[in-house]
Amino acid sequence: MESELLREQGHIMVDFIADYYKNLEDSPKDFPVLSQVQPGYLRDMLPDSAPDHPESLKELLDDVSKKIMPGITHWQSPSYFAYYASSTSVAGFLGEMLNAGLSVVGFTWLTSPAATELEVIVLDWLAKLLQLPNDFHSTGNGGGVIQGTGCEAVLVVVLAARGRILKKVGKNSLPRLVVYATDQTHSSFRKACLISGIHEENIRLLKTDSSTNYGMPPESLEQAISSDLAKGFIPFFICATVGTTSSAAVDPLVPLGEIAKSYGIWMHVDAAYAGSACICPENRKYIDGIENADSFNINAHKWLFSNQTCSPLWIKDRYSLIDALKTNPEYLEYKVSKRDEVVNYKDWQISLSRRFRSLKLWMVLRLYGSENLKNFIRDHINLAKQFEDYVAQDSNFEIVTTRYFSLVCFRIAPIDGDEDQCNVQNRALIAAVNSTGNIFISHTALSGKFILRFAVGAPLTEEKHVTEAWQIIQKHASKLILNGHF
Ligand code: PLP
Repeated sequence: MESELLREQGHIMVDFIADYYKNLEDSPKDFPVLSQVQPGYLRDMLPDSAPDHPESLKELLDDVSKKIMPGITHWQSPSYFAYYASSTSVAGFLGEMLNAGLSVVGFTWLTSPAATELEVIVLDWLAKLLQLPNDFHSTGNGGGVIQGTGCEAVLVVVLAARGRILKKVGKNSLPRLVVYATDQTHSSFRKACLISGIHEENIRLLKTDSSTNYGMPPESLEQAISSDLAKGFIPFFICATVGTTSSAAVDPLVPLGEIAKSYGIWMHVDAAYAGSACICPENRKYIDGIENADSFNINAHKWLFSNQTCSPLWIKDRYSLIDALKTNPEYLEYKVSKRDEVVNYKDWQISLSRRFRSLKLWMVLRLYGSENLKNFIRDHINLAKQFEDYVAQDSNFEIVTTRYFSLVCFRIAPIDGDEDQCNVQNRALIAAVNSTGNIFISHTALSGKFILRFAVGAPLTEEKHVTEAWQIIQKHASKLILNGHF
């Protein structure tokens, strides 16, 4: 990189991005939250092949404004309430910038000692903030590693657990290995199992319902394990979730962990969304029971202001992960690469190359401090509570699940118990509000019902945005009523 060109163009780019954030707030009409383009819209706007000669940054940024922006769904808009947020911050952005600037590849300690050592330290810091048991800290047999995404985190722990059990029962037993999760567990779990060679018919997705607020019933788990053991299967992995993707349901870690421990089964806790909220002492109770888990992950890019992507994973027995994933080609050998002398993160993940992600996490923790981070999260939870209060006060609507964090699951209430008609109404409502471009909400299905999701988490969201969003939802619900949709 040419330093003077970087200085000149870097300033232009920072101005462009800062203006983007300003305009998202000041001129929301110019930025429909959900992109309104049709598939293939970009092909007609761009040339068929790459340019033979350089173009200017100005021309390029003009194209970003005119051609790319219309195809952007503005996850950073204060009126973004869909899925779960992708939370950014100035500190996270600067960390990404520094990472891009240094562009080191810390696959072994040698290839950038600071990249490895900072990751170890920062994940110990975060483990302390989450009050994870000491077993998860790097000082014992455990430790943390930043995976790219939650999907990668669950894959590597399934591989580690598979390795551990096969060592015990023999490689030929793979077809008898059984895993447990629920019908609410993120789809990445099934994918991780299939990649790991677990037979599809051995993936037990236990049924949940509203009686446990869609959390895993421990008695179902116990029964499933006993029944599998009686049939000669080998139960080896439980994936519990704190904050499911559909409805932010919480699996009860205390009883699940006791079951896991008593049968010697690996328990992973997927807290991709809600884990960050557990740095607040009042939310720590949701991960009570973590002491009996073997691994735990959060997505700092979801709710810890760490920009895409950053998925810290902690494991109690790092050797099980290393044994499953280590590679030792001659060209990567170096003097201190013996077990335990240093951490070589290439052996804790799928890929070899890796980004220096701990930089941004370190910067987020230092530039805000944990007290501010807790308060940012509390603000989001309070805004969700405000939305929930609005819904509760309108008899046309109903709240569908108990809210624990910053997600409200709600819907237009059925009339005379007509669930089919109710699903039609709610589908019509979400299509109407999202087509305005003023807000973006998403949906899920729970017990066969079409449910609307309102997830707070975009860092720019304030009370006024939540109020406006509710007014838009109410207005469109009334319009549908007037037009005879219900
Ligand atoms: N687990 C849960 C509970 C999630 O909500 C998500 C994503 O929303 C994931 C896992 C997957 O995370 P990622 O998109 O980082 O792979």
